[in-house]
Amino acid sequence: NKLVILGGGESGVGAAILGQSKGYDVFLSDGGKIQEKYRQELVDRNISFEDEQHTQSLILDAALVVKSPGIPDTSPLVVALAERNIPIVSEIEFASRYTDAKLVAITGSNGKTTTTLLTYHLFKQAGYNVGLAGNIGESFAWQVAEKNFDYYILEISSFQLDNIDSFRPDVAVLLNITPDHLDRYGYSFQNYTDSKFNIVRNQKAEDHFIYFEDSEVIAKELADRIIPSQKLAVSLTHAVAHGMRLNGDELISNYKNSTFTQNYPALPIKGPHNAVNAMAAILAAQVAGIENSKIAEALLTFENAPHRLEKVAEIAGVTYINDSKATNVDSVFYALGSFSEPIVLIAGGVDKGNDYSQIEELVKAKVKGLVILSTKHEKLKDYFEEIVPRIHISQDVNDAVRQAQQWAVSGDIVLLSPACASFDLFRNYEDRGNKFKEAVGNLIQ
Ligand code: ADP
Repeated sequence: NKLVILGGGESGVGAAILGQSKGYDVFLSDGGKIQEKYRQELVDRNISFEDEQHTQSLILDAALVVKSPGIPDTSPLVVALAERNIPIVSEIEFASRYTDAKLVAITGSNGKTTTTLLTYHLFKQAGYNVGLAGNIGESFAWQVAEKNFDYYILEISSFQLDNIDSFRPDVAVLLNITPDHLDRYGYSFQNYTDSKFNIVRNQKAEDHFIYFEDSEVIAKELADRIIPSQKLAVSLTHAVAHGMRLNGDELISNYKNSTFTQNYPALPIKGPHNAVNAMAAILAAQVAGIENSKIAEALLTFENAPHRLEKVAEIAGVTYINDSKATNVDSVFYALGSFSEPIVLIAGGVDKGNDYSQIEELVKAKVKGLVILSTKHEKLKDYFEEIVPRIHISQDVNDAVRQAQQWAVSGDIVLLSPACASFDLFRNYEDRGNKFKEAVGNLIQ
């Protein structure tokens, strides 16, 4: 009855704790170093573990393996497990086996965190006994072991969906599918798409599937697939059979003949992408039986996580926006579409094979200056030098922000929305966003 956990981060340690409480003989193995706080948990709870190595003899006799989403299927250890037909599951699969709570599972290439936090906020404000888990906050398995929620709102990545077996969300949300992480899917967009659609795989007729109908990829897949659950569509452009649409300024739901209408500009989140996220969250709340009046009230008090179109300051009439989390082209597309004002754009970083054609028209129409903040500026410069009136290249965030300030006039937006990963100049996207905010703060002094 041996359970092996691969990976000793938040989700791995949570799975170990849950496994132990269910009577498994648990062994946790991490190829890297386990953080002190997690090491202490394992020691205190008498869970055996190793780090900075994987001892095959202690792993290959497992009856079941819970694998961290960070470990690719091509790693030698995973290959060895597969050869022995040892079942490998993700933490969400494992945890879901031990809870009767209703699950709302949210996936997509972009918008997961925002939609998960908003959905959680709607449930919480309505007084529901609800937990927040998945790629966000505390481990799902850990909470299943130690708490007793009626609902979980789960942020789900494609990696977690790769290793599911019976995971069945009562409400599944699919926001969009755009190319990302293809290195983990044999460079096949179809493989990545299939992984996302695993979210509905085990659903039944009484469950619900909320999806963004304007996404061509999703629409095409739906034409080819049989979805076992009740479909609720979200659209920015057209009336939907069942679900929600944006019509002018109004978000309108027809769920079960409800007449829920919400003025979108009144909400604290902006841009068309966030209208999609909001409609998905509202539908999830309606499915869970939350009253329309409670939903409407809670929408007004939502505060999104930082680094997502976050307003930093207004200086001399210029608004500074931190969208450091925009690490791919699609999110920059939506960021540019969120403003009618002229924009000075700060972009660049580590390119993940970006195709900038998606934002070319928007950049041409709205961007009055481009600051490339990166150690490798050639690709962005070559693409945009004929398109934008001015380009400045920098490897220093203070210099980048000062240049943006010089180009901007009252009424303009200075937008950090990089389209790229951050690790050429920063530790991660949070670090990049925080340094940007500091640099904006320095302008004021
Ligand atoms: P995720 O957790 O999927 O990375 P976030 O909510 O953190 O999503 O948002 C990541 C980036 O994508 C942000 O720059 C945000 O402005 C943008 N974004 C948010 N929602 C959407 C959406 N529905 N479609 C496209 N881009 C989005």
